[in-house]
Formats: sequence, C-alpha cells, structure tokens
Amino acid sequence: MTDYNVIVIGAGPGGYVAAIRCAQLGMTTACVDKWLNSANKPSLGGTCLNVGCIPSKALLDSSHHYYFMQKHAAAHGIKCESLNIDISTMQARKAKIIKILTQGIASLFKKNKITQLAGIARLSGEKQVEITAHDGSKQTLTADNIIIASGSVPAKIPIAPIADNIVDSTGALAFDSIPKRLGIIGSGAIGLELGSVWSRLGSQVTILEALPEFLAIADRKIAAAAQRELKKQGLKIILGANVTATTAANNEVTINYKDKKGEQILIVDKLIVAVGRQPNTRNIRIPVNKHGFIPVDKHCQTAIPGIYAIGDVNGGAMLAHKASEEGMMVAERIAGQNSEMFYDIIPYIVYIWPEIAWVGKTEEQLKTESVEYKVGQFPFIASGRARAANETSGMVRIIADAKTDKILGVHIFGISASELIAEAVTAMALESSAEDLARTIHAHPTLSEAIHEAALDVEGRMIHG
Ligand code: FAD
Ligand code: NAD
Repeated sequence: MTDYNVIVIGAGPGGYVAAIRCAQLGMTTACVDKWLNSANKPSLGGTCLNVGCIPSKALLDSSHHYYFMQKHAAAHGIKCESLNIDISTMQARKAKIIKILTQGIASLFKKNKITQLAGIARLSGEKQVEITAHDGSKQTLTADNIIIASGSVPAKIPIAPIADNIVDSTGALAFDSIPKRLGIIGSGAIGLELGSVWSRLGSQVTILEALPEFLAIADRKIAAAAQRELKKQGLKIILGANVTATTAANNEVTINYKDKKGEQILIVDKLIVAVGRQPNTRNIRIPVNKHGFIPVDKHCQTAIPGIYAIGDVNGGAMLAHKASEEGMMVAERIAGQNSEMFYDIIPYIVYIWPEIAWVGKTEEQLKTESVEYKVGQFPFIASGRARAANETSGMVRIIADAKTDKILGVHIFGISASELIAEAVTAMALESSAEDLARTIHAHPTLSEAIHEAALDVEGRMIHG
C-alpha cells in the first residue's frame, strides 16, 4: 500500500495542473515544490507565475500603456502634459499579481484535497520520493505513479557570468530603475519581450543575436515585418553577433563582439543574458539525455514504468500551455483514459507590440518537406476594426494544402494576435480547410475578420484587400 496514488514533483503550470487533474479523477495526490519567494515563503506556480509568463506580461502591459500615452495617445486627441512612470509602483503591481495568482493555486490545492509539500524532492527507490524540507528535515513517501515536472532554469554562458549588472530574465524582471543603456544577448521570446518592456520605458536597447536570421522559427514575412516594427520602436537588433568577452566594471558592462563588419564594442549599464533555458533535473536522480532532458515517449512516459516527465524538463517546446496539456494528458492516462497530445498544433506567441502568433507549419518547413501549398494573406491596414483602433501594422497569413485545402499553418503579426490565434488552433484541431474558415461568419467589425479575409484569399477571393 503506497502513501499516494500520485506524487507530482514541481508545481509549475505542468505540475500543478497535473496534480489538480489527478485529484479530479479521484486519485490521492501530493505535490512537492521547492520554490521560496523573496519573503522565504513557499510559492506555487513555478517559473511561469513567479518569474516568467505572468510577471513579464504584467510589465509588458504597464510599459505598453506608458508607450501608448507617449507615442499614440495624441492621435486619438488625448493630450498628457506631464507623463512619468513610477517604477516602484509598476513593480509593486507585478508583485501583487504574482501573490494573488500563486495563492490562488494554494487554494485550488486545498479545494481539490491535494497535499502540498514544500522542499526538494528526489527519487529514492522504486515508487519512493525523498523530500528534504527547507528546515533540513527529511521524509520518504511512496506513490504508484510519479510525475516529474521540475521545469527549467535560465541557461548560462561562460562568456557572460551573472553578476551585479549582468542579469538573467529573473533579474531583468526586477530592475528597480530604468537602465539608460541596455544590452541583451539573444533575440528569442525573452530578449524581445524584456527588450520591449525596457525600451518602451526609455532604455536604449541593443540586442546581440548569434544567428544571421531574425526569429528563425517564425514565418519569414511575419519575422521581417516584426523586425521593421521593432526597429521603428527604437530597438537595435544586431544579427550574426558573436560575443567574445564581457567585462563588468565601474557600474557598466563592456561587451566585445564580432559581426559581419568586424570587431565591435558595446558599452551598457545592464546586460540581460537571454540565450534559452536548461532543464532542471538537479537532485532528482533520473537518467537524462546529453542535453539534460528526461527522455519520454509521446505520452510523457519515461523509461521507468510509473514515472512520467512533463513540461520544460522533457524537451520540446518550453511553453506553459504545452506543460499544462501534458499534465492533463498524463493524469488522464494514469486514470485509464486514452488522452493524447496534439504536438503539431501548439500555438507560439511573442508578446511584442503588435504581437506575433502562429500555429502549424511555415512555408519554409513545407518547402523542405516538399509539400505543395497555397497562401492567403490579409493586411490589418485593410481591417476596419484595426483602423478604428489605430493599430494597422501586420497581417494574417494562412497556409493550406494545395490539393486538400487543409489548413497547415496560420501566422499572425498584429494587434491581439495572441487572442486571434485561438480560432486558428481550433480550426486546425478540427482538421478544417481554408474553405471552412472562409464560409464561417465572422462578426463585424472585429479583428477576426482578418482571418476570414485571409481564408478567402487562399482562393483569391478576398473582399477588402
Ligand atoms: P516550471 O514552471 O519551471 O516549474 C517547475 C517547478 O518545479 C518549480 O516551481 C521548481 O521550484 C520545482 N522544482 C524543480 N526541481 C524540484 C525538486 N527537485 N523538488 C521540488 N521542486 C522542484 N511560456 C509561455 O507559454 N508563455 C509565456 O508568455 C512565457 N513567458 C515566459 C517569460 C519568461 C521571462 C520566462 C523565463 C519563461 C516564460 N515562458 C512562457 C516559459 C514558461 O514559464 C515555461 O515553459 C513553464 O513555466 C514550464 O512549466 P513547467 O511546469 O514545466 O516548469
Ligand atoms: P530562445 O531559445 O527562444 O532564444 C534564445 C536566443 O538566443 C536564440 O535566438 C539564440 O540563437 C540566441 N543565442 C544563444 N546563445 C547566444 C549567444 N552566445 N550569443 C548571442 N545569441 C545567442 O530562449 P529565450 O528567449 O531565452 O526563452 C527561453 C524559453 O522560454 C524559450 O523556449 C521560450 O519558448 C520560453 N518563453 C516563451 C515566451 C512566450 O511564449 N511568449 C516568452 C518567454 C520565454
């Protein structure tokens, strides 16, 4: 007889959702997490709620309001004589949101009768988890199934060790003043989102990206449009930049790098290292691959029966919604259901302004796979709703199979792309054709009409373009 049906290690969006679903399905469940907040109190929600998705979006929203008032309010006839930003209020708002949401998970645990344990967990034998509490005391618990959801931590590079003025994403979310000159290594989602936050508030931002292409994983036309827009907003993005040294001294950071023009020097007040994240398997004692991820099959089952790994720690897309869906799938499979993950239709979003969102394949991927396709495209400049909002940048692109018309990918750069993409994900989950979207009535005036028009354009019958 074991102590629990399921023990979940980690209470990020993978682990806490898995625990709740297990409990809903009638399993006795415990969830152990080691996270301590700045007040040294256990805090649920993992990277996502404490130092990831939520705090970054809080700062993106605050900084967007400030930027809007500075640059765009006048076009609406709104005048503001003396605009200023109080960083401590902005940061306090962020902290309050984190507190409300992390405490909300604790309430959900209580409501679902999940045992919440604080401490560091490790596998200590068959069906056994040893937990070292923060006061050093140990206990060993047993479970029929163990779900590892231990997440990830910021990747480090030896050339730019974290120090006072060289920070990772966690440090960059906590700046208590606006750096005048801000350098960022890496132009992935973190570099672009945090770069946008501080640029909108007044930092001169320079992003050094090793790859020669901007946002190489996105649709090329969308990436080019986004790159132009960011440049207009004042972010300097240097592609093909090879950082060779960083020196932190006299309250500034000197960065030596090489690009196609040769040796360069950049001097900044703060440097953010945003070069990806690495799996967090320290302490856990489970076999990992050469990159540190826990190998799993398509149902997140590890090589050891009864032990599963979900979320950032198992490789694949490092996204909160992917972690949560895996959590639900694993819980349901443990309960004997046949749940599956649809890895081909995970939405990706980059929360710059306007937003980038996509699902499915890009043209470049389809070319590599020798799949014949057709494309429909609609620019937001032709959308009445976007025009009314004064937000006309960007476009919707729909890629459909040339023969069957099945939607293979949808790529959006524009206002509310993060919300608009949900329609595309649903359409793809239902294996819809572009014609299905084209024949669906979209309310007027809405931004979603841009999706309708792009679907019409797949067969060359766009109305407003
Ligand atoms: P995590 O959220 O990392 O949680 C893992 C938990 O496990 C942690 O609480 C940790 O304390 C605990 N843990 C680890 N080891 C042990 C142990 N041995 N014992 C006990 N507990 C342990 N994704 C999005 O989808 N959208 C976004 O907008 C987005 N924005 C982001 C912004 C930033 C700045 C960052 C850094 C990330 C962002 N992400 C975003 C990525 C997202 O945060 C992760 O993909 C997601 O949190 C992964 O969830 P997880 O449950 O796998 O792991
Ligand atoms: P990333 O892998 O998305 O981007 C890192 C970038 O750094 C890449 O473009 C890479 O080429 C570049 N790079 C790596 N080493 C470099 C070097 N030495 N010099 C210059 N450039 C270098 O990683 P990230 O932006 O740190 O984000 C980490 C994870 O968090 C990602 O997997 C991302 O999906 C997730 N995340 C998601 C969101 C979102 O969904 N909106 C937001 C933030 C983070």
